[in-house]
Amino acid sequence: MAKFKAFVIRKTDGGTTAALADFDEAELMDGDVTFRIEYSTVNYKDGLAITGKAPVVRRFPMIAGIDGAGTVESSTNPAWKPGDKVVLNGWGCGETHLGCYAEKARVKGEWLVRLPAGLSAREAMSIGTAGYTAMLCVMALERHGLTPAHGPVVVTGAAGGVGSTAVAILAELGFTVHAVTGRPQEADYLKSLGAAEIIDRKELASPPRPLAKERWAGGVDAVGSTTLANVLSMIRYGGAVAACGLAGGMDLPATVAPFILRGVCLYGIDSVMCPLERRREAWKRLENHPDRRKLAMMTSEIGLDGLPDAAAAILKGAVRGRIVVKIG
Ligand code: NDP
Repeated sequence: MAKFKAFVIRKTDGGTTAALADFDEAELMDGDVTFRIEYSTVNYKDGLAITGKAPVVRRFPMIAGIDGAGTVESSTNPAWKPGDKVVLNGWGCGETHLGCYAEKARVKGEWLVRLPAGLSAREAMSIGTAGYTAMLCVMALERHGLTPAHGPVVVTGAAGGVGSTAVAILAELGFTVHAVTGRPQEADYLKSLGAAEIIDRKELASPPRPLAKERWAGGVDAVGSTTLANVLSMIRYGGAVAACGLAGGMDLPATVAPFILRGVCLYGIDSVMCPLERRREAWKRLENHPDRRKLAMMTSEIGLDGLPDAAAAILKGAVRGRIVVKIG
């Protein structure tokens, strides 16, 4: 039976181990499309899965990797044929279904999105779940009615994957972007992505007041906890925040004051089970934003053997922008 290279997480007595291995094609899970993965990427959730720091993986052995881009090898799904270029984000891959740190994946055809014609597989993974989630956040703010004329917007966790992409997209759409970071050394990087102002994350680290001085018309939050509570207390009347992350914690020590006294809206963003239509819309827009020059600037590349170090780094908040994983 054919074998392929994969980065596999196994259960041990004390927790989990993660290592490169030869995986038997016969052990792939059910699905009607098999595709050759050319690139994957490292997201925060991949870091949790590889290190075992949170119970992200629900089935063992598991091939980690929540994102993949590549070419269809075989399909019994009428929507796909061999040679089609595809992108996969989420749907439980790397959690409950064998994921994308591998030369091959077998998945349901309805999980796949066509790779936009203007993007290579590498560029799509440079965007990855982090970038696609940033676009979902921007789309939520747009549905709210937010425009650049309403005032500056804030992005937290700005030097990370979601944050960098959100800064770049919002700036390209004409918004004045205030980037919140704990890494002042990344100020030039964030300005080159389009940030107008850099804010030290310590400014949003104190216990939040119910309402504080109104600063931003909207925001994209990848951090949660005290940071998000402070952001909410500083959103202008009628504004909105799209919350997608928990890099700073899962709690939310806020009051209802911003909602009931300023009409502020908090939008929850989930990329994993996001309906296909909205995914397609997001990927269509990602063909143009962020622009290729910025995408290249925010991306570094590793191979499958670089995953353990990359996983540890992303959980420390030490990764700048995005990491793509070249398969093979
Ligand atoms: P990254 O690690 O690349 O970015 C997170 C950033 O958050 C860091 O770079 C850092 O930015 C900041 N940060 C880290 N720790 C803290 C802290 N203790 N307090 C304040 N800020 C902190 O991760 P991603 O961008 O890939 O993901 C960001 C978050 O979004 C994660 O929680 C992830 O799970 C979530 N996510 C959710 C998705 C969804 O579907 N809802 C999809 C994708 C991601 P800086 O150095 O600039 O301060």
